[in-house]
Amino acid sequence: MRTLRALGVFAAARLLTRNEARVLCYHGFSYQDEHAFAPQLFMLPSTFQQRLDQIAAYGFNVVPLQELTRRLQAKEPLTNVLAFTVDDGWTGFARFALPELQKRNWPVTLYLTTYYATKGRPVLNVLRRYLSWKGVSLPVPAKDDQQEHDGLLHAASAAGVDLKCSDGGLFELSSPDAVAKLCANGLDLQLHTHRHRLPAEDALLTDEIDTNRRIIEGLSGRPANHLCYPSGEYRRSQFPLLKKLGVQSATTTHLELVNHRCDSLELPRLLDGENLHPVELDAELSGFSSLVRRIRRRG
Ligand SMILES: [Zn+2]
Repeated sequence: MRTLRALGVFAAARLLTRNEARVLCYHGFSYQDEHAFAPQLFMLPSTFQQRLDQIAAYGFNVVPLQELTRRLQAKEPLTNVLAFTVDDGWTGFARFALPELQKRNWPVTLYLTTYYATKGRPVLNVLRRYLSWKGVSLPVPAKDDQQEHDGLLHAASAAGVDLKCSDGGLFELSSPDAVAKLCANGLDLQLHTHRHRLPAEDALLTDEIDTNRRIIEGLSGRPANHLCYPSGEYRRSQFPLLKKLGVQSATTTHLELVNHRCDSLELPRLLDGENLHPVELDAELSGFSSLVRRIRRRG
């Protein structure tokens, strides 16, 4: 890839894909060693700073996600457009990533999943996987959240694993108060379902969106009509229901660029994580990787 980049192949790909937009996707940021545990989900703050320098070198027109979707729906040009999205609402976003974006005056959309954010507890399934990765001997999973929480914390403490960080504990989502303050400073807050799932049953899906939206709009004071599919999973058969619920756009985890052939409820993104080598990010940003994937699909 370095050779191709040096030969100008990436620059040519950029030219060929100049009329397609890029939507970048990030998740959490590390206080300790979370990036070593889940490099697709957590990134070192220093890596993120390098990423922003790398992105800046392209001279993209960084716009709010809503502006990108507006242009898409109005069939306006998407030339040179890029938008930042961050999923879930891990506390490390507000601590490490948001200030760096604000320094550059780059807007960002945060897709907040509200169940754990309102409970004031770490995301238990991720905490369990982390402790297992740390080699901690764990209790049998409890059905009750409070019992599961207490069991995991007890096991961590017995094994000498420190879960404290400058914002409380590892694997927590930003509190409603913290998120409301960020929104008052201009953060765009959007939908990611209440319990981080997209049920197949219409009534349950409606409840997931409605509950998530009620909390989010209460915190931001602005409409929340843009969704990110939790874990990237969705069914096209549910698009009519999502439209009825007022969802104007939805982002996936398909690696692609956004062009006028895209459905607003199926917007692809470029996923960045600690697992990506900088040259791989260049391959994605330039459009080179997308062109290769298109050629392969045709083949
Ligand atoms: Zn998520």
